[in-house]
Amino acid sequence: MQFYNYIGGQWRPSASGKTFLNINPADTSDIIGEFPQSTDSDVRIAAEAAREAYKTWRLVPAPKRGDLLRKAGQILAARKDELACEMTREMGKVFAETKGDVQEAIDTAYYAATEGRRLFGYTVPSELPNKFAMSIRQPIGVAGCITPWNFPLAIPSWKIFPALLCGNTVVFKPAMDTPKTAHTFVEILIEAGIPEGVINLVHGGDEAGKAVVADPNIQLISFTGSSETGKIVAQHCAAQHKRVSLEMGGKNAVILMDDADLQLALEGVVWGAFGTTGQRCTATSRLLLHEKIHDKFVEMLIRRVERLRIGNGNDAGVDMGPVINAEQMQRILDYIELGKQEGATCIIGGTRLTENGLAKGFFVAPTIFTNVKPEYRIAQEEIFGPVLSVLKFNTFEEAVKILNGVRYGLSSSLYTHNINLAFRAIRDFEAGITYINAPTIGAEAHLPFGGVKETGNGHREGGWQVYDFFSETKTVYVDFSGALQRAQIDNYDK
Ligand code: ADP
Repeated sequence: MQFYNYIGGQWRPSASGKTFLNINPADTSDIIGEFPQSTDSDVRIAAEAAREAYKTWRLVPAPKRGDLLRKAGQILAARKDELACEMTREMGKVFAETKGDVQEAIDTAYYAATEGRRLFGYTVPSELPNKFAMSIRQPIGVAGCITPWNFPLAIPSWKIFPALLCGNTVVFKPAMDTPKTAHTFVEILIEAGIPEGVINLVHGGDEAGKAVVADPNIQLISFTGSSETGKIVAQHCAAQHKRVSLEMGGKNAVILMDDADLQLALEGVVWGAFGTTGQRCTATSRLLLHEKIHDKFVEMLIRRVERLRIGNGNDAGVDMGPVINAEQMQRILDYIELGKQEGATCIIGGTRLTENGLAKGFFVAPTIFTNVKPEYRIAQEEIFGPVLSVLKFNTFEEAVKILNGVRYGLSSSLYTHNINLAFRAIRDFEAGITYINAPTIGAEAHLPFGGVKETGNGHREGGWQVYDFFSETKTVYVDFSGALQRAQIDNYDK
């Protein structure tokens, strides 16, 4: 089936005439559709359409814009299972998780709808008499939203709903591995009543992404992807003074103290490491075990991971699906090889899975390394796959040092019953998110999401903070004294 870009209210092919195929990573003989491979000329037309639509959309009252987003949330809710099934077919994670992905978009829609009724500014007293002072929020213009494939609906919704609510129009460039979910998402926005030109969809890869970043009609960029690409995006934005929000990689760790509830931690670690086949920016990729419980917990892990069922995420009973594509599979297998060469011990997994009907997909066994040293590359670099590195520590201080000793700072977790250690973790973990007695994954729509160090550039998605990113502050003074009043002068030097 043929799919198109959506530009200025019309479904249209790329001007280049080029297309790409969208395939099921669990079964590469299953072709989902053919999508336009867009170039800068498609992006230019989309950005012009968005610029034009901005003239009227910015004047629609924010509560009214919120009503349309609520409607989008309702449609998403009504189509939840169908969308989840489609998403699993497209990117592999299991049905329960893609349902969660849809739910996150629903939550984000409802949250955005309510924020439309309180897009706060500040009113503060003026230092001068008979003068009124306040700050208000205004839209910025056209937002370029560039998204990855691992949360095909949740991440676009995190960006697009707040962007629209604030009165911006959007050019949406989804990942090439998940164009179908993006297509359905835009269909839903149209059905909800988002006007022509307000949402524009441009499919394609790096070329289209670069064109979005470069287009002069696009004032702000919201990007989620790798730290390497994020750096390039930031450099281009800097040269044009574009506002840019970057949400990038992670190398998240769980610290497990010797007093922790091991059974609870086991479920959390397995979910954090192998949920979404390890392809989350918040995935648990390092497990730091107190030496007293190290051997026992490793045994528990092996027994638990042996029971994981790997297969097509749309099949009942499957715990872990395939990885996204051949390139990513090779990258993960290369990291596994590297881990062995570095001196770590692969205690389970470590291979591609091809038996039992898995040969047609990109399946990698859940893999655990022990004897990992903090400086090993498998303990430093983001693998984005089902690979967990286990490190041993002696004191809490040593564990914190290891946890912080990476270039990323997204999510972190501590399992303990010691309240003092819990608060030290909250204070000392260098991460945008810290969980206590819970895994590294599990963001909620109404809380800020993002990281420190090379994970982000100071902005947050989700929560109230994202509305700061998508709006401009205007400060307003109304002087009703009827006289010239000079701030800092007339009220002091009389
Ligand atoms: P991932 O490894 O998650 O695919 P990438 O950083 O490669 O991460 O891609 C994230 C998103 O950024 C995708 O939509 C991709 O097409 C887009 N992209 C890739 N390169 C560029 C670039 N140079 N400029 C803008 N967008 C890009």
